[in-house]
Amino acid sequence: MEGLNWYIHVMTVLTRREALKGLGAGVAAAAWQGSVDAATPFPKGAIIRTVLKDLSPEALTGGATLFHEHLSLAPDFMPKWMSLYRASRGGTAPAPVPPPATPQPYFMQDADLMAEEISAAAKDGVACIVDGGHPDMGRDLDFLKQLSTRSGMPIVAGCGYYTQPFYPPEIATWSEDEIARELIRQVQTQPVGVFGEIGTWDVMTADERKVFRAVSKAHLETNLAIFTHTNFGKGALEQLDVFEGMGVAPGRVAIGHVGGLNDPKVEVQKAICKRGAFIGFDRQGGAGDAAQVRMVLTLLEAGYANNLLFASDFSTASQLKRNGGPGYAKTVTVFVPKLREAGVDEKILTGILVDNPRRLLAFVAKKPRR
Ligand SMILES: [Zn+2]
Repeated sequence: MEGLNWYIHVMTVLTRREALKGLGAGVAAAAWQGSVDAATPFPKGAIIRTVLKDLSPEALTGGATLFHEHLSLAPDFMPKWMSLYRASRGGTAPAPVPPPATPQPYFMQDADLMAEEISAAAKDGVACIVDGGHPDMGRDLDFLKQLSTRSGMPIVAGCGYYTQPFYPPEIATWSEDEIARELIRQVQTQPVGVFGEIGTWDVMTADERKVFRAVSKAHLETNLAIFTHTNFGKGALEQLDVFEGMGVAPGRVAIGHVGGLNDPKVEVQKAICKRGAFIGFDRQGGAGDAAQVRMVLTLLEAGYANNLLFASDFSTASQLKRNGGPGYAKTVTVFVPKLREAGVDEKILTGILVDNPRRLLAFVAKKPRR
């Protein structure tokens, strides 16, 4: 059903676009349908590991895979994040939000609401959602499984440690190898499918470097891909330096939040692409889209369509459909139409939304799933 909806969505878009451009719709439709597998070789035996089962990468050709979202966070995660963020910008901590008159469950703990929102995203053309949380962010694997079961949406769960202010105490005392061993243990015993989001809060700290090196070792041991969090792009090249220095192939890494580096020449983003890594424009679908569109166009002109990843880093209730927002599919329904209007070809958009995230996520498991 989702596949059919995606097809209808695509055809609606094509019809509008062909009317504008006067091209034959059949030619463009063939480009959509033919671009996916022909252009996307996967290693033999590669899988995408979701919370419920391992999928063949070909199972996710029916829509967009959103490589960095949040479906499960602790209720105190975002308040802590905002407070730290404001303090780092020289501001004061925000005034505490008074509790609602009628206590409501936090939306990321409300399975009924979330299943509804995710089902709506499927209708909007989303085929898979990657959750970028892990235990230090309050991510709940059982909740993700429940959401996937109820909505039918394949969900890939992240694994790792977030950033210095959120690390559990053991990170300070464990060695790099001890951290790597714990990550490998999690991969071997839990249905996690990617290392992410792995972050630097500001300038990379000694502990963060230790975690990045440990994640590299765990990647080499398990083959799971890696995606990162940067402070609006800060230190993006340094993150890739650490991974490459540890022997991680750049093509297995996505450096995140680089849309935050507002540079019309996109020099850092180009440098990362040139080295073969992915870059995340992963806070899309909102007020800042115009500058992001310009940067994406510059990167496309430079020939880096295969390195781009889009997502929204969904984390606030105001964005939910129930609250009048665009919902989890806003990358597809709000951001991508702006690229389309700017003249980006549908085949390129399919490559970015459908193929690139599958190329990042697909891996050959070294041990069978437990
Ligand atoms: Zn995130």
